[in-house]
Amino acid sequence: MPTLETSRTKTGQVFQPPEGLRILTLGGLGEIGMNCMVLEYQDEILVIDCGLLFSDLEHFGVEFVIPDFSYLVERKEKIKGMIFTHGHEDHVGALAFALKAGIRAPIYASTFTTLLIRERLKEHGLESACEIRTFKMRDTLKFKHFTVKTESVNHSIVDSAALFIQTPVGNVVHTGDFKMDAQPFYGQELDRRAFGAFGDQGVLLLMSDSTNVERHTHSLSESVIYQKFEQLFAAAEGLTVVSMFASNVARMGQVFEVAKKLDKKIALSGRSMEQNVRLGMDAGYLKDAHAQIISLADLDDYPRNKVIVLSTGSQGEWRSSLARIAHDEHPYVKLQEGDLVMMSSKFIPGNEKAIGRMINDLFKQGAEVLYEAIHDIHTSGHATQPELREMIELVRPKYFIPIHGEYRHLVHHAKLARDTGMTDEQVLIAVNGDVIEVSADRCEIVDHIDEPRVLIEGREGNDVSKLVLKDRRQLGEKGVVFALMVRNRDSRRIISGPEIIVKGLVNESIEGWLIEEAGALAKKIINKYDQQIARREPVMDLQEEVRVELRRFFNANIGNKPVVLPIILDV
Ligand SMILES: [Zn+2]
Repeated sequence: MPTLETSRTKTGQVFQPPEGLRILTLGGLGEIGMNCMVLEYQDEILVIDCGLLFSDLEHFGVEFVIPDFSYLVERKEKIKGMIFTHGHEDHVGALAFALKAGIRAPIYASTFTTLLIRERLKEHGLESACEIRTFKMRDTLKFKHFTVKTESVNHSIVDSAALFIQTPVGNVVHTGDFKMDAQPFYGQELDRRAFGAFGDQGVLLLMSDSTNVERHTHSLSESVIYQKFEQLFAAAEGLTVVSMFASNVARMGQVFEVAKKLDKKIALSGRSMEQNVRLGMDAGYLKDAHAQIISLADLDDYPRNKVIVLSTGSQGEWRSSLARIAHDEHPYVKLQEGDLVMMSSKFIPGNEKAIGRMINDLFKQGAEVLYEAIHDIHTSGHATQPELREMIELVRPKYFIPIHGEYRHLVHHAKLARDTGMTDEQVLIAVNGDVIEVSADRCEIVDHIDEPRVLIEGREGNDVSKLVLKDRRQLGEKGVVFALMVRNRDSRRIISGPEIIVKGLVNESIEGWLIEEAGALAKKIINKYDQQIARREPVMDLQEEVRVELRRFFNANIGNKPVVLPIILDV
C-alpha cells in the first residue's frame, strides 16, 4: 500500500487537528467515479462513500483505481462512521480495500446498499470486519459532533440517499447522486419540501452532483421506459434480450412487470444479474418475480417470443453474458433472425469501441439491436441543469461546492450556482486532494494532498505504483506481450488460455511462430500450477512465473526483453 508520506502536505507538515470543519475529497472531484469524502471535526471523522474508478489503463494491467487511504489510516481511531449514499460501484467499490488497509468503523447504508456491500465484502472474506447498520430514509444518525439525517432521492439505483449533516460550524447538504423524477418506478419523487425545510434552517454548505450539468432539459422519468418496453416487448416476434446495469433494480422491475402483463417469462444471464435480482427481492422490490423466472437451460421449452433474457454486459465487457451472445459462444442463448437485443443503459465514455464492436457482432447474428443513440430505451439517473438549479434554490446555501464530475462539469455547475445569484466567494471549485476548511464565515482550500489514488492490478488487488506504470508505458513502445488466462474463481484452476498477444514486437513473418512457442511455454507453466492445486501443494505465483519465463524466452529468441503482462481473469 502507499507510504504514509502522501498524507503530508506539500510543505511536509503533518496536519494539525482542524479548527473548523475540514473536508477532504479522496476521489470524485475532477473525475466521474471513485467518490470518497472525508468530513473531519476535531477528534471525529466521517467518511462519505468509498468507491472505485474503472480504469482506462487495462492494457497496462490496471483494472481499477481506488483512493489512497493513507490520510484515513493515520487517523483511523478518529473515524466514527462510513456512510454510503447508494450502492453503485463508484460509491461502494473500494470499501473492501479501505478495510484491508486497516480502517474500521461502523458502516451505515440503506437496505439495498447494505445488501450489495455485504455481498462484496463476502467476496473478500471481510463480511464481519465491521458492523453494518442499515438505515431507513429520514433516520437520524447521531455522532459526537455530527448529526446526519438521511433523505431519499431519485437515482438509477434504488434506496439512494442525500445527507443532511448538522455540524458544529453549520449545516451541510450532500446530495449523493440524484435526479428529480416525477414518476420513479419505485418510491416517491424527491421531496422538495424536505430540502426546502432544511434550507429554512440555514445551510452553510451544499455539495451537489455535477454529472449531467451539461444537459439543459429536464431528465426523462424512469417510467417513460415502461411504455417503450411495453411497445417493443409486445411487438417482438422472436427472442428479446435486454441488457442493463445489474444494479438498476427499477429498470429490472419494469421488465418484470411488462413481461407479466404480456405473459412472458424471464431468464437471467450473467452472475451479477442473478445476484442483484435476488438482492432486489430481498430488499422488498421485484415482487412476484420468482414466479416469472425460468432457467436458461429451459429456454427451448417456451415459444421464442414468450421469453425475455435479462443480461449483463451493456458495456461490451469481454466475457460478459451479452458479449458471449454476440460471439455465438453463449451456452443457451443463440440469436437468429427476428430476435431483438435492447441495450437499456448508457455507453460509459471509454467503452464506446468495445460496445460498438459488440453491437456489430449482434447484428451479424441476425438480431435487431436497439440502443440509446437510436432509441429512447434508457434514461439517466442524474439531475440536469434545471434540476440542479432547483436544488440550489431549495437549499439556498451560503457556500457551494460542485462534486461528482469531471473538471469541466464542476466548472459548469459552479457557473450555474453563480447564475442563481451566488457570488464568486461563495462558490468553490475543488479537486481531489484539496483540503477545504469551512466555518461560519469562510469556505476555502487550505492545503492539498498529492495524488490520492492507488492503481489496482487484477482481482487480487495488488497496487501498481506510478513509476511502474511509467515503465510500462515506455517499454510498451518497445513491445508488449500479453498472456491472458481465465481462472475459475472457486476451483482456482485455469479454464481457458493462455492466449498470447504480442504488440509492436517483431515483424509478422515470425510473429505466428513466436506466439505459438510462447503459448506452449506458458501452457507448461499452467500445467505445473494446475498440478500443484490438484495435489494441494503450495502454489507458485502463476503471474510472476509466466512473466519471468516469457521474458527469458523472448530475450533468447529475438534479443529483446518486452514487457510481459500475464493477466488472470477470475470468473
Ligand atoms: Zn450513482
